[in-house]
Amino acid sequence: MSLDPEGQTVEFVPNERPGSPVETLYYDYVVVAVGAHLGYDQIEGFAEYGHSLSDTYYGENLRRYLPEDYQGGPVGVGSARFHQGTMSRNLVPTAESACEGPPVEVMLPLGYWLETHGGGGPEKVTVFTPGETMAEDAGLAVVKPLLDIAGSLGYHYVNHTEDIKAITQDGVEFANGTSVEAELKMVFPDWQAHSFLHDLPISDDRGFILTNMMARNPRYSNVFACGDAAAVTVPKLGILAHMGAEAVGRQIALDVGRMSPEKTNVNMAFVLNCIGDMGGNKGCAMNSDTWYGGKKSSLKMGHIPFLMKMQYRKCFFGPRAKYPTGGFLRLVCLLKN
Ligand SMILES: Cc1cc2nc3c(=O)[nH]c(=O)nc-3n(C[C@H](O)[C@H](O)[C@H](O)COP(=O)(O)OP(=O)(O)OC[C@H]3O[C@@H](n4cnc5c(N)ncnc54)[C@H](O)[C@@H]3O)c2cc1C
Repeated sequence: MSLDPEGQTVEFVPNERPGSPVETLYYDYVVVAVGAHLGYDQIEGFAEYGHSLSDTYYGENLRRYLPEDYQGGPVGVGSARFHQGTMSRNLVPTAESACEGPPVEVMLPLGYWLETHGGGGPEKVTVFTPGETMAEDAGLAVVKPLLDIAGSLGYHYVNHTEDIKAITQDGVEFANGTSVEAELKMVFPDWQAHSFLHDLPISDDRGFILTNMMARNPRYSNVFACGDAAAVTVPKLGILAHMGAEAVGRQIALDVGRMSPEKTNVNMAFVLNCIGDMGGNKGCAMNSDTWYGGKKSSLKMGHIPFLMKMQYRKCFFGPRAKYPTGGFLRLVCLLKN
């Protein structure tokens, strides 16, 4: 795959069956929405000793591992360091990890699973973060009570690990020289830009696509980016990907004369919205924009957030699932209010 913003072409290889030649497509507009490369391949020892839950392959590995191989030892859950580009600092803050909802969402149900499967409980789980505070992008008013509750339940917490250096049979070794003993190592990697996006005139110093807060590239006005591939999408979150896609739609509608500048030239106002499963039919719902300078900050825990999470699951993974355009979002809003 390659992209030439000067020639306005994309080269691609159809990959349904191996063997296809490279094809070239001319474009009037291009929207880079190819997500990110999840850098498990950068973590020494991950293939041999690591687990994760970012896709069905790793999910299925864990589903088999827990009942068949897990011996009841300590559990480590956390993230590698995110290497964010430096060229959008005027637009978004800098994050130490790409997406720390997943570790939060993994640690809580794991503690519950240990409890309900005779394996101890949360006290076996150590959660670690490369930064000052786990899930700092959710805002301290949300994260602090969440970490306090987790601590009171018995979870251990380690911060400032800087990065994952290696995963070994015995645990996780960190870049700051410390380590955590763990039989089960659940990790989330660095989110990196795909290699074909590096060193393009539309990319930042890490290969993420530069845009303004309306998802348009500042140098090539017919280039757009949204989701994990965009430099401003920090942290790498689905809700921000969705906002980016809507901004792209508005901007192209503006260009082709189908929407007015007043309706389209509106900066995305990022907000973090995460709903996590906690196990035991309970969930936690975080809604905050304080990391971006806003005032919204809410943390709810209990059965209703769990119901919301299950509705998400139904929307995305159920038969004929697709992103809801109105009804479900209205339901979520009703439940939140
Ligand atoms: C475990 C986990 C939990 C998460 N939980 C949450 C959460 O609770 N809330 C939240 O908001 N976000 C969450 N996220 C983040 C969210 O999943 C991502 O931010 C979101 O999926 C990004 O959307 P995207 O469309 O940019 O990228 P993706 O969803 O990765 O889609 C990119 C698409 O591009 C395709 N592609 C890639 N390269 C090429 C190529 N060369 N040619 C053609 N196609 C290509 C891929 O196959 C893929 O279909 C979570 C992420 C993980 C890993």
